[in-house]
Amino acid sequence: MTSEVKELVDGVLHRATAEVGLDVEYVRARGNTVFARGRDGTGVPVADFLGGYGALLLGHNHPDLVAHLANLLAQETPVLVQLSSQPAADEVVRTLNRVLHREFDVDEPYFGVFANSGAEGIEVALKHAEFDRGQRVDAMRAEIDENIGAALSAGLAGATVDGSVLGLPVGSAVDEVVEEIRVRNAAAFATGPRLIALSGGFHGKLVGSGQLTHNHDYRSPFASLAAQATFAPANEPEALRAVFEDARVTAYDLRITETRAEVVRRDAPVFCALLVEPVQGEGGIVPLTAEFAKQVQELGAEFGCPVVVDEIQSGTGRTGTFFASAQLGLLGDYYVLSKSIGGGLAKLSVTLVRAARYRPEFEMVHSSTFAKDGLSTSVAAAVLELLEAGDGALYRVAAERGRRLSAALHEVRAEYPEIITDVRGLGLLQGVEFGDLSTSGSTLAAQLQAQGQFGFLASGFLLHEHRIRLFPTGSAPNTLRLEPSVQVTDEEIDRLATGLRALCALLRAGDDQGLTAF
Ligand code: PMP
Repeated sequence: MTSEVKELVDGVLHRATAEVGLDVEYVRARGNTVFARGRDGTGVPVADFLGGYGALLLGHNHPDLVAHLANLLAQETPVLVQLSSQPAADEVVRTLNRVLHREFDVDEPYFGVFANSGAEGIEVALKHAEFDRGQRVDAMRAEIDENIGAALSAGLAGATVDGSVLGLPVGSAVDEVVEEIRVRNAAAFATGPRLIALSGGFHGKLVGSGQLTHNHDYRSPFASLAAQATFAPANEPEALRAVFEDARVTAYDLRITETRAEVVRRDAPVFCALLVEPVQGEGGIVPLTAEFAKQVQELGAEFGCPVVVDEIQSGTGRTGTFFASAQLGLLGDYYVLSKSIGGGLAKLSVTLVRAARYRPEFEMVHSSTFAKDGLSTSVAAAVLELLEAGDGALYRVAAERGRRLSAALHEVRAEYPEIITDVRGLGLLQGVEFGDLSTSGSTLAAQLQAQGQFGFLASGFLLHEHRIRLFPTGSAPNTLRLEPSVQVTDEEIDRLATGLRALCALLRAGDDQGLTAF
């Protein structure tokens, strides 16, 4: 009976994880530890380096947050009272503004929109950006119509205009030029939305956000359902410029002086959004370089393209500052936060929109029953209070634990340079990349690597032999992701290093039996 029931939910996934010993049931979780159901029914402690895919910066069941949530329930706090005054939500966005202003040294307000998950937060940003773009198109169209009207009423109707910008004769009739402008602009304004994202980027798996996620398997089968993105390589500033130049669309305007009219080119507002993660998570823990971040910001400004900074995984303090992008000096038009802002107990996202871009009418056309609920917003407010306490003491802990973790990983890499080819990351968002294992001596590892499954073999081994929970990144299967909580101990980091050393030694020795002995 049990197995039949199991089959009804993720049966295929369950069998696949069972093959590498990952079909474990966790019965309790606290801090950086999860307890697996042992054969005798007792809980076996496992150090959690997956951290709920980055949602557990504060650890499992943080006692202050559990008490806070229990108290909210005991107090019969209203959970679903939509369209009423919701002070916890206001407090969250006020605090986020304070933090953002401090970390980026700016004072422009950012408005907050709540949703239920990371991908949903991205879709909020996407919808808002397209709503804004539509209004920018309307504004430009109205401005050009006004200029044309002014030109015609200024008695220029019978005069001639230089139409060469449009490929018309230098002495073209105004009416003819106006007609050509109207035809060209109709096409220009119907173009778009241009969406630009980065190779290796991950922004969710919903209908819209899935098309911004680079991974082919997650994206391609659903491409017909939503607007497509153009992908630019990460950390290649000139390539990003080329994508923008390529996507640019010209509209035409008529500028009148006292004596004549002139045809001028304008960039049509075709750019909806450029999406970036300050540290690519699922793409293999790849931090953006400061030089690339600068280019992102400059191109965004030059082409009038809003920059959406996806801090769903990197944000909420994980990298040692609240916003990872603050360390890159990348100021976005939008920020999307989720995962750890729910403290591991609540599911929510907050999309912040810069005041200069914010369209208040959006509030009338976007909502969700569960968004901005009383429990998740209040838990998020408590999370922010914890993070900001003691002058941001927990950010410093994240940075220090990150350094400790990174140092341990680098040591292992130095001992097995032909197996571990890179260790990279920021704070408590670290990646360990394995090189080509086809000549490692391990037939099994080489075979699984060719199928993009090596990371799961490594995960199974580390779980069973060293009581370490981790997974590879979603789109870069040779990179193991490490996203423990701030509560991760020296002993757990050392155990991880020991486990990785043992794994590397088996790979070097080609000991396939040792890799699957569990
Ligand atoms: N953006 C980033 C950077 C993420 O890491 C993720 C989740 N891994 C998402 C978006 C999607 O979030 P969710 O799984 O909550 O939809």
